[in-house]
Amino acid sequence: MSKPLIVITGASSGIGAATARLLSAQGHPLLLLARRLERLEELALPETLCRKVDVTDREALREAVREAEERFGPADAIVNNAGAMLLGRIADQDSEEWDRMIDLNVKGVLYGVRAVLPGMLARGAGTVINVSSVAGRKTFPNHTAYVGTKFAVHAMSENLREEVASSGVRVITIAPGAVETELLSHTTDERIKEDYQAWKEAAGGALDPQVVAEAVVYAYRQPPEVTIREIVLAATGQQG
Ligand code: NDP
Repeated sequence: MSKPLIVITGASSGIGAATARLLSAQGHPLLLLARRLERLEELALPETLCRKVDVTDREALREAVREAEERFGPADAIVNNAGAMLLGRIADQDSEEWDRMIDLNVKGVLYGVRAVLPGMLARGAGTVINVSSVAGRKTFPNHTAYVGTKFAVHAMSENLREEVASSGVRVITIAPGAVETELLSHTTDERIKEDYQAWKEAAGGALDPQVVAEAVVYAYRQPPEVTIREIVLAATGQQG
């Protein structure tokens, strides 16, 4: 086996699935994590371990990484991609949605990092790729809780990069604008969903997840002494 193991969270749809296909086509063994195991298995990728893991479950995430490393060797990269965007107004959004986003988008990223980082530091090599958003850099209507989580991903990624820079471990933030995936479907407020859909159409449509997958792979493929700290990409027509 010539290429090292890569872990991808939230690989059952959208950006994670596109990234899994691309990295697999380039010969990497993969550990794919999500709650919908059948969707991971439908990708039918070679040398791939699929595990039904909720990334808010720290132990389950760590155990899946341990199992994959036993089979394929040490994880050279993790793509912390699992996330949810539950748009709403703070005045009336169910606060349980804030909890879900904070647990998944913020703590899930930390748990993913912790599952691989000690090994990377010991080996003096590895790449952590965190999927944030343009909403991790600026605000949007009805995004208050979501931008909070994505600003957190940006801040944690940059701080982690500083923490591990001298140890040979790279930390990369990927910040896409709107991408055509299942992400919006989980927002519960129908009016907000319609407005977001109209905003996307006015921008001439969203990015194809394949484009984001290619950005992830471009950043990962740099030589180990080069860190692309951040890639921000969005449809040309997206103003905000
Ligand atoms: P999708 O909804 O298509 O994918 C989200 C992925 O996360 C799914 O594989 C889902 O799998 C997984 N997931 C959700 N909750 C959990 C959980 N608790 N444990 C494990 N996996 C979970 O959306 P995208 O591909 O668009 O989203 C990927 C990332 O990209 C997210 O972090 C998102 O915030 C970010 N992003 C997306 C943008 C967009 O416009 N689409 C723009 C900017 C950033 P399952 O349900 O099977 O668990």
